Amino acid sequence: MKILTILGARPQFIKAAALSREFRNYIEIKEVIIHTGQHFDQNMSDIFFEEMEISKPDYFLDINSLNHGAMTGRMMEKIEVIIENENPDYVLVYGDTNSTLAGAITAKKRHVKLIHVEAGLRSFNMNMPEEINRILTDRISDYLFCPTPQAQKNLIKEGFENFDCKIEVVGDVMEDAVRFYSKKANKVSKILTENKLEEYVLCTIHRQENTDDLDRLTQIINAVNEISSTIQVVLPLHPRTKAIISKNNLQLNAKIIDPVGYLDMLNLTKNAKLVLTDSGGLQKEAFMLKKFCITLRDETEWVELIENEVNFLAGADTKKIVSLALNKLKTTFTCDKNLYGGGKASEKIVEYLLKTT
Ligand code: UDP
Repeated sequence: MKILTILGARPQFIKAAALSREFRNYIEIKEVIIHTGQHFDQNMSDIFFEEMEISKPDYFLDINSLNHGAMTGRMMEKIEVIIENENPDYVLVYGDTNSTLAGAITAKKRHVKLIHVEAGLRSFNMNMPEEINRILTDRISDYLFCPTPQAQKNLIKEGFENFDCKIEVVGDVMEDAVRFYSKKANKVSKILTENKLEEYVLCTIHRQENTDDLDRLTQIINAVNEISSTIQVVLPLHPRTKAIISKNNLQLNAKIIDPVGYLDMLNLTKNAKLVLTDSGGLQKEAFMLKKFCITLRDETEWVELIENEVNFLAGADTKKIVSLALNKLKTTFTCDKNLYGGGKASEKIVEYLLKTT
């Protein structure tokens, strides 16, 4: 069984690390990897491949720093040639990036069976490029592997039961990754000692709806500055956010560090007192590592975290972010529910594919 996997962005490297590891246990599965190059930093992308021991990409497309249309179009052009040469049984895409959509459309038009891992998520905010990517990818996928029962419900509500596709709830491959790599992170990561970190809040800000809206970004930064007067805030700063902060001369009082590899990120999360983020993946990692998370968005795809009161939506409202943060810093995290499948998602996906073919 030949599977052509399309990767290009940070969260996809992490998800693929878990699933590729499982693929390698089976001689009947051959995985060919395309790295589109969408990730913002080539060095950093190499670090992800090395530290997580993902097989080196068979193809590197080097497509980045373009507008959505140009980026998606160029990826499709190159992916189509590779599909023609490789003739895979399946194309596998993860999540909701432009690489996901480019791979999905191209595969489907070449009549190759399409697998979507992390299917069925919805923010119901059509202004998010990610929402558009995931809806379109889901609609043309043959195999939709959902991380949660809620994701499956979203698909059913949209009528997917009437479409010619298979929907399976398998859990979240990200939990597989957290479980596997946090052991390695304990041994390898030196991020805490290198930065002399003790008591701190971990923060990330990179989503376009925050970085490209100066009012939202200013409100979030004001909140970070206020929280910093109580506890240190550590912020691995995404280059997009960094550029906008510097262009607008915004004052950010936090310990700014460069974006870090996954093992360092796990260690940073594990030892934080609290997480503030607009990232999708980090919201779940915070939960898996037993930290409260204040989400700097107006909605989230991971609604089970909100229902279980371990994640709180604060939008870009300074007052709300600060008061939630100060409150959660005083609260003990006790939730030990299994919301994401317990680290068995990769196993279930492979079992399913082997049974189906
Ligand atoms: N992450 C990382 N280094 C960083 C910031 C984030 O390894 O400096 C990891 C984080 O732990 C999570 C993933 O990147 O697993 C989330 O990626 P991102 O926030 O870019 O995307 P999203 O999940 O919002 O799609």
